[in-house]
Amino acid sequence: MIRQILAAMSAPFVLAAVLAFSVLIGGLNLVGPAAAQKFSTVQPAGLAAPAEPPVPKAAAEKHQKQIIRTHTVVAGETLSDIAARYGVDIETLLAANPNISGETIYPGDELVILPQKGVLHTVDIGDTLWHLANLYGVDVERIREANGKQNDFLAIGEKVFIPGGRVRYSHVAARGANFRFIWPTQGEISSLFGQRWGRLHTGLDIANDIGTPVRAARAGRVIFTGWKGGYGYTVMIEHGAEYTTLYGHLADYVVTPGQYVQTGQVIAYMGNTGYSTGPHLHFEVRRGGQPINPLAVLP
Ligand SMILES: [Zn+2]
Repeated sequence: MIRQILAAMSAPFVLAAVLAFSVLIGGLNLVGPAAAQKFSTVQPAGLAAPAEPPVPKAAAEKHQKQIIRTHTVVAGETLSDIAARYGVDIETLLAANPNISGETIYPGDELVILPQKGVLHTVDIGDTLWHLANLYGVDVERIREANGKQNDFLAIGEKVFIPGGRVRYSHVAARGANFRFIWPTQGEISSLFGQRWGRLHTGLDIANDIGTPVRAARAGRVIFTGWKGGYGYTVMIEHGAEYTTLYGHLADYVVTPGQYVQTGQVIAYMGNTGYSTGPHLHFEVRRGGQPINPLAVLP
């Protein structure tokens, strides 16, 4: 999860120039004609819903607060800078800009800035507001309001902003393996295994407070403890049958290489070390050295 990649040059003199420049232009571009066209579906009189009645004044004002903006990247800016500037998290920023490849941004890139934390959902066949509300655990009314919707019509391909929505694991789980593990910790799933922003996210992210106990997902032998690049403090356990598990971004660990551990034994504590944007456990299951989807082997 390398998310603090600098966009291009960062020499101090360039930074200074860039700062001056971004102050000058303000950088905070409200939706212009181009962006409005791209995201016509969030406009009060969206193209997708030609039969919409006029928007009442109160609703229109409310909608103004939710409006989606764009930001043009300048040299030296990082995703963290931009996220902080608009008061959203990096997850939200990336979710709204799936075209960011490898989480790298370049000067001149136009980023979609969602009005608050959430997910931008592209409507698929069969999606309804209720389906989306269910999927993301958000009120139908909140979704309607955030998108200035006067009716429940959704067009295929339309982008719907889900305020406070997070990707939920229940609709992705693929199960069926018979080599089972237990959940290594408690918390909220903040990122799934799979292709994410153009590259493979090799594990499951479970977010909770720093210090939350992390347990062996299955009995085995500890094969690695220590600092492991972007993973930060890491523990790895081998379980036999070519399975290993990896626990990353730890605050601390309490096992040593060669030690045998039982299923559920506390091995470490959740942290925010390495390339991490908040306290969470990066949990990886590997078979024959290849990461597999942990949800396939969890209860
Ligand atoms: Zn991760």
